[in-house]
Amino acid sequence: MIMMISIVVPCYNEEQAIPSFYDETTKIIAQIDADFEFIFVDDGSRDQTLPVIKSLPPKLRCTVQYISFSRNFGKEAALLAGLEAATGDYVCIMDVDLQDPPELLLDMYRILCEGEYDCVATKSVSRHGYSPLRKGFTKLYYALINRMSKTEIVTGARDFRMMTRSMVNAILQLQEHNRFCKGIFSWVGFNTKWLTFENKLRVHGTTKWNFFSLSAYAIESMVSFSTMPLMLAFFFSFLLLAAAFVLCIILVIKAIGGSAVMGLGILCALFLVGGIQTGCLAILSLYFSKAYLEIKNRPVYIIKETNINKTLTPTTDQKEASHEIIT
Ligand code: UDP
Ligand code: MG
Repeated sequence: MIMMISIVVPCYNEEQAIPSFYDETTKIIAQIDADFEFIFVDDGSRDQTLPVIKSLPPKLRCTVQYISFSRNFGKEAALLAGLEAATGDYVCIMDVDLQDPPELLLDMYRILCEGEYDCVATKSVSRHGYSPLRKGFTKLYYALINRMSKTEIVTGARDFRMMTRSMVNAILQLQEHNRFCKGIFSWVGFNTKWLTFENKLRVHGTTKWNFFSLSAYAIESMVSFSTMPLMLAFFFSFLLLAAAFVLCIILVIKAIGGSAVMGLGILCALFLVGGIQTGCLAILSLYFSKAYLEIKNRPVYIIKETNINKTLTPTTDQKEASHEIIT
């Protein structure tokens, strides 16, 4: 039986990168004896991304499908839409900027066919091309999140991977709104084989992330996959109570000894207490804001246009409305 492989490609303002990505990738997949479907997800691009996708020439044993969002919903939303639309026995996720080497598809396919693994994932061993600041923060981020979260987030892991249908179905069961794919891939389990490669430079355009969007993404992933900050709030409160207790004893001893308590000390203590309380409140509000978004149950994305006939598979009534296609 001939296999079907889906390749999900999120694209945000990538009019320049798409043609070379398509050329390079189709050259490689021609060596694989399977049918392919590309699912390009135009994540609300403001350039000619969608017309460029539509103009891609059809190739033998390979179809080009697209989903175009009504606005930019972010890469995580694009990945969800692509995975929901994918019909393949194996599903692959790839960035469009050729930072994910297409030649690895051959190894991925071969390894999955052997049957021992459910997923062949990739990690880059270098951060060639990234600024020293980004390298530093990335290192700090992985150190922090792996201390905080029970779910392992593999250092240098990329979203570039090929998965079996059963793993994709498991991922689709997680319909959470604050999505962090690297965590979700790890959380669902399954046997994963890791391939490593040297980080490559983008072929066209620039990265879609800046310092602020990356920091927001990092914080979001920590809140999604760890309750450790909540424990910190408890820890601070405990410290505070213990300090207050000790302070009380000192005050009583001093008062008995007849010496005056310094006003400045009290003022400092007040500031300290205020600061810690505000910090704890900030942590709590982070979690409540996430819970608030989940309760609202807003759609993760809205499709403006697509050439895919399949109704994207919602699991609840609400999801039915959420994936409505507005043309
Ligand atoms: N991307 C997306 N939506 C966004 C940002 C990025 O679909 O809001 C896509 C982008 O077009 C690319 C992939 O996600 O195919 C990775 O983005 P990028 O190369 O900018 O990230 P980096 O490699 O710098 O981490
Ligand atoms: Mg990139």
